[in-house]
This record gives sequence, structure tokens and C-alpha cells, in this order.
Amino acid sequence: MADCIHLLPDAVANQIAAGEVIQRPASVVKELVENAVDADATKITVIVRDAGKTMVQIIDDGKGMSETDARMSFERHATSKITKAEDLFAIKTKGFRGEALASIAAVASVDVKTRAKGDPIGTHIRISASEVELQEAEACPEGTNFSVKNLFFNIPARRKFLKTDQTELKHIINEVQRVALTHPEIRFKLMHNNHDILDLPKGNVKQRIVNVFGRHMENNLIDVKIDTDIVRLRGYIGKPEKARKTTGEQFFFVNRRYMRHGYFFRAVVSAYNRLIQDNSYPQFFIYFDIDPDKIDVNIHPTKTEIKFTDERPIYQMVHAAVKEALGKFNLVPSLDFEKDETLGIYSGPKTGFKAPDIEVNPDFNPFEEEKKSASSFQNNFPTDNFNKKSDDLKHWQNLYPEQNTETPDQQQSIPSEEHQQTQFFQIKQRYIITTVKSGMMVIDQTRAHERILYEQFVALLSYRKGIVQKSLYPINVQLNPEDFSLAMELMEKLNGLGFDLSVFGDSSFVINGLPADIVVDDPKRLIEELLENYKSQSGDIKLELDQRVAWAMSRTSAGHFIRVLQAEEMQELFYRLMACKVHNFTPSGKPIISIISVEELEKRLK
Ligand code: ADP
Ligand code: MG
Repeated sequence: MADCIHLLPDAVANQIAAGEVIQRPASVVKELVENAVDADATKITVIVRDAGKTMVQIIDDGKGMSETDARMSFERHATSKITKAEDLFAIKTKGFRGEALASIAAVASVDVKTRAKGDPIGTHIRISASEVELQEAEACPEGTNFSVKNLFFNIPARRKFLKTDQTELKHIINEVQRVALTHPEIRFKLMHNNHDILDLPKGNVKQRIVNVFGRHMENNLIDVKIDTDIVRLRGYIGKPEKARKTTGEQFFFVNRRYMRHGYFFRAVVSAYNRLIQDNSYPQFFIYFDIDPDKIDVNIHPTKTEIKFTDERPIYQMVHAAVKEALGKFNLVPSLDFEKDETLGIYSGPKTGFKAPDIEVNPDFNPFEEEKKSASSFQNNFPTDNFNKKSDDLKHWQNLYPEQNTETPDQQQSIPSEEHQQTQFFQIKQRYIITTVKSGMMVIDQTRAHERILYEQFVALLSYRKGIVQKSLYPINVQLNPEDFSLAMELMEKLNGLGFDLSVFGDSSFVINGLPADIVVDDPKRLIEELLENYKSQSGDIKLELDQRVAWAMSRTSAGHFIRVLQAEEMQELFYRLMACKVHNFTPSGKPIISIISVEELEKRLK
């Protein structure tokens, strides 16, 4: 049999390869805009005609190309961005495969006019279906101007498969938006058939988001921020009430590259659990900064899915960051108490209290909690906030005894004219009801308690100062070996919280004392539950050891908190909750507060 294998001519090979990179006009826009970014442009203009089917033109003021580079740039695997294999592991540019220009030139007519910075004259090259048709010196501005005409003119089958102008234009807008959102320092302009579609001045990320999506974003962005060893995360999320049934305003970026990520998407959306309706999506713009060797570098140029080496902990961080951001934001603006005599079943004590000012630390980072609270204990310890507000609260030591009385200078009473009464009442020993300006606030008593204790314990642990202990006759606790070794590991921490535990034999220990601020009737069960809670801590939020202990402790103690509360106790609980850094979610992310608005009540009572 005669030999039948032969090499395809370059033009055909290029056409086939081009199919992978260039699927539609938007692919051309993406590649050329990214090249302009890589060329350090400060201004990029995109002009398209007929949704890019007739023409895509990209003009940049970047570094430009010499005559040789301009010619070389169209060769397959010609790139200035990497030189050796190792470079693949530290890619800082958008492109690196050197395929885009070769691919575009294989399936369209391309004119490039370019002048390198400082060169006296520029170069004009025209290539059509991989054939160089023209190359000459030409006077042109510094920077590069690509004009791509009649995409797929030589592959009619592909041209036929292009969608309507409306759809193709939508794809183009998406591509420009994605790059624009990662490069707010670059000015972008997008024009279609002589109409301005986007005109984005330089600015910061927030301004860029507002400029891209419009005014409705202006008061809708909540900061998200987290720093860990694995990933640095920055960005904004939308307020729950602005969530929409449609998607399109959800963005992840990793190392300044747009990314789709279904798993992390769920991490964000699930953090809004119960704050938004089913099937609606909050806006988000989340930027990951991660060591390039922790992500898959062989990213296909057109693929937007990116793989991370270890996605689970990152999921947890994203989830926790969003949750904490929501916690900080939520309710803060609407905490505007009003007198409401008419609703009161019980009015608070005659002296009354002014609702505390809610201070929110915009830089609060839950993952730094430990470090910060160790150095600025006074600021973080919930009790202190209370000392600042009123001496009167000391009466209710039974509920939350003072842990720190070393700051007498901070104690002030509130002038009586400013007193304002807030009424509280309780339902089923579980919920506390009060009024806020916008309507009725329902507080889950156990969860509120859990949050307060948690913050208190975290602060205590970092301060490493045991609190007043309740003395009781020693109680012996026998544990299975697994629980025993866990108890041993945690013993130091637990003693730091006010326990007094000591080892007694091979698998048991003795409880000599308990923290003063928890209500316990069965200390043995408390320890068992504590260990159980500690072990059951699931993947929702990644916590430090201290936080885990505090979490288990707060859960265990709060579990015993279903009971009738006196008005003073409710008030105390309420103010303590409001003084927490996060007051509307438990440490495990369950909502603590729900507000039923007046409008909602009106609707129900129609
Ligand atoms: P890649 O971006 O993967 O390197 P491309 O085919 O997109 O491959 O581009 C090939 C080369 O052409 C780039 O590496 C760069 O040196 C040069 N180049 C492309 N576009 C521009 C531009 N707008 N300004 C300056 N140089 C450019
Ligand atoms: Mg490129």
C-alpha cells in the first residue's frame, strides 16, 4: 500500500487550531484586549461593527511592537511572555501560548498598525487567512491598533453558526466587562455601530463596578476581605435585598483573571441562606490572590473554569468571609429604636436604657480575631462595651458576670434625659420580641446567647485569664479513651475558660470548678456535650483551636438556655448581643435576628 500520511499545509493546520481559540467575535475581542493589557496600555478602545461579524477593532496605547515583532507575533507559538518551561508556573500575563494572533489571522483579515515606544515610525501589516498581504512602514501613533474584518470569511460553516447580533454583542460586552473589572486602572471604551456601550474612566474597583453596572450598585456593595496563608480574598458582595432571579452580576477573579467556579459560587450563595429567596442570586465581585502554583497553570485560553489544588479550605474561607461580611452589615443601618408604648406588654425598668451605639469595625477580620484580641483585649472584650454604657448593667451579673473590672475610668452612666425605653417580651421561653423603627424584631434567645458567649470565650482565651470559678465538690468523669485524650488536649484551654479540671487516673479526670458565667445543672453532661460539640464541628467555617473551643463551649452552654427570662435579663441579652462584633449570626452561621417589617405585617393583616 502506498504511504498515505502527509503533513497538512500551515494554513489548514492554523485553521483547525484556530477553532479552539476563536469561536466567535467575542473571542477576538477577549484575545486582543488581553494583549493590550499585557502591553501595559492605559487606555483601550474596542470598536465593533455588526456585533463583530463585520469588524472588531482594538486600539491601545501600550508598548507597541517593532517591525520584526509585529511580523513574528502572527507565528504560532510566538510569544514574548514566557521563554522557558518554568515560566509556566509563574504566569503574570493574560496570554502566554502565542496562539491568539496566529489563530485570528487564520480565519479573518487582520490589519495591524503598531509603533513601539520611542520608534520614529510604525509598521502596518495585513494578513488574511494566514497569508501576508502587506507589510510596510507607516506613520502611526505609539501603541497598537488591530482591526479584524470578516471573521470566518474563509470558513462559511462556522460563520453560519454565529448567533444573532444581539447574542454575539452580549458575549462581547461580557468579555470587556471581565477584563475591565480586573483592571480599573485602565480606561476602557466599547462602541458598537457608532454607539457608546461602555465608557469607563480609571478608578478603583468599586467605582469600576458602579461604572460597569450602573447606579444601582452604588449603595449595594459590602466589603469582603480575608487573608490566610492559602489565599488572599478581596471584593464586594451585594446586599441581600438586591438579589435577583437572574445571574450576570456574579464574578470571581483569580490573579486578575476571570474565573467561573460552581463550587465557590455555592459557597457565596449559601452564605446568604435565608436572607434571600430561593433561586435568587446576590451580586458578588470576589478577587482571589493566590500563589500561581496552587492553581492549574495550563489554563486553556478559552476556558474560564480554573482548578485549585485544594478547594475545600478555600470554599470554607469564601463562605466564612461572605457570612461575616453580611453579619457586619446586616441591621446596622436600621438599628434605630423608637419608643413604642402602645405595643408594650412589659416596659423595662423605670430607669430605662439608651440603645447602645453600634460600633462596627470595618476592618474586622474573623481570622485575625485571635491575634487582635490578644493585643487589644480591652476593645474586643464584650463586657467592656457594657461598662462604657452603664453601671446599671452590673445588676445582672447572674447572667453575664463581669470578667474585667480593671477599667474604672471607662465607666460612665448615661444622663437620665437620654434614657429611652425599649420593651421586650418573650415567646415560648425561646424568642425575644422588641420593636425597631422598621417593624418588629425577633431574637432567637439561645442563638443570641451562643453568640455572646462565643465572643466572650474567644476574648477570654486570648487573654488567657481564667474567670471567677464556682467551687463545687469534685466530680469524677470517666471517658472513653478517644474522648479522654481529646479532653487532655483541651484541658489547658478549658482551664483558661474557668474550668478547674485535673487528671485522675488513666481515663478519668476530676471537675473541681466550672466557669462562673454558664448555667449548669449537670457538670458531667456539660463536659461530655462539650467534647461532642467540639468533635462535631463540621466544615462550615475553619476555626482556630481557640475558636473551636469557644464555639463548642458557647454551643454547649447556650443549649441550656431555654427558660423564662425577666425583662432585665432580656434587655441585658439584647444589649450584649448588639455589642457583639457580629450580632446577627451564630458562630456556625445560623441567623439570630429576624425583622418583620411593618409592610409585611400590613400584608399579613390585609
Ligand atoms: P500571547 O499573548 O499568548 O503571547 P498572542 O498571539 O496573543 O500570544 O500575541 C503574540 C505576541 O504579540 C505577544 O506575546 C506580544 O509580544 C505581541 N503582542 C500582541 N498584541 C500586542 C499589543 N497589543 N501590543 C504589544 N504587543 C503585542
Ligand atoms: Mg495573547
